Amino acid sequence: MYWTVRIRRSLCAMMAAFLSGILCIAVGIGRTAAKSAETPSEEGVSLPIVMYHGLLKEEKRQGAYVISPDLFENDLRYLKEQGYTTVVVQDLIDYVKDGVPLPEKPIMLTFDDGYYNNYLYAYPLLQKYQSKMVLSPIGRYADQDSKEETLHANYSNASWAQLKEMMDSGLVEVQNHSYDMHGDGKKSKRKGAKKMDGETTEQYAEALREDVQKMQDAVTRNTGFTPTTFTYPFGAVSKESLPILKKMGFQATMICESRINTITRDPECLYGLGRYLRPPKISSEQFFTQTMKLKE
Ligand SMILES: [Zn+2]
Repeated sequence: MYWTVRIRRSLCAMMAAFLSGILCIAVGIGRTAAKSAETPSEEGVSLPIVMYHGLLKEEKRQGAYVISPDLFENDLRYLKEQGYTTVVVQDLIDYVKDGVPLPEKPIMLTFDDGYYNNYLYAYPLLQKYQSKMVLSPIGRYADQDSKEETLHANYSNASWAQLKEMMDSGLVEVQNHSYDMHGDGKKSKRKGAKKMDGETTEQYAEALREDVQKMQDAVTRNTGFTPTTFTYPFGAVSKESLPILKKMGFQATMICESRINTITRDPECLYGLGRYLRPPKISSEQFFTQTMKLKE
């Protein structure tokens, strides 16, 4: 019933727990030996993550990436009733690094792209249900719409002031969805933050670093918080990207693969977190029990 499973303990977790900084040489040798050895199992925590984008009331505007605010409220109510507790990435980091326990039935709710309708509809519902979300805005659009006098639910993005207000409530954690790497690969040359054909690894590294750092600086400047997580636009991942993001200090990445995550004490488990896209029109119960296969 509870979302715990047994998993194989990796050497990294073992190192973090027991050997960190004690015997560098022994750790070096142990790393090689334990990779191939059968290691004891340990508890891991099952973490479902839901991916939302826009919330709009008009049915004709709803689709794969836009659901009704009522449906989101149903999700929040359903999860409360089922005993789930919403967590943010910092909770995962605290668990992985310091062993701070996670709630019995954790779940993470994520919103991508940073739409103004998240501020308008999702944020009051988070307050009502005392639930949390991880919001990954696109820096360029937050910059643009911060200059607008009026914002519109259908097409605007949340301003930096709104993002900061949500963060200051303690219910919203803002992460990095790139500053301006959110092209679909059709109208734009690059798909998301993916490496382009013909681009050298060095050219790619430079482009990714520059854009992602620009977003880090913008979030820090506008909210006082420095993101810990890179949310890949479109879930478009290149194998070259992770070492670059790690070097920049990112402690987690989120993608769009539909799978439940197992969180262990191994910091590596926070890279490539899977998420389920919340579609419109199906009930909360159907979505959580049939699509995500959560047990009631
Ligand atoms: Zn996106």
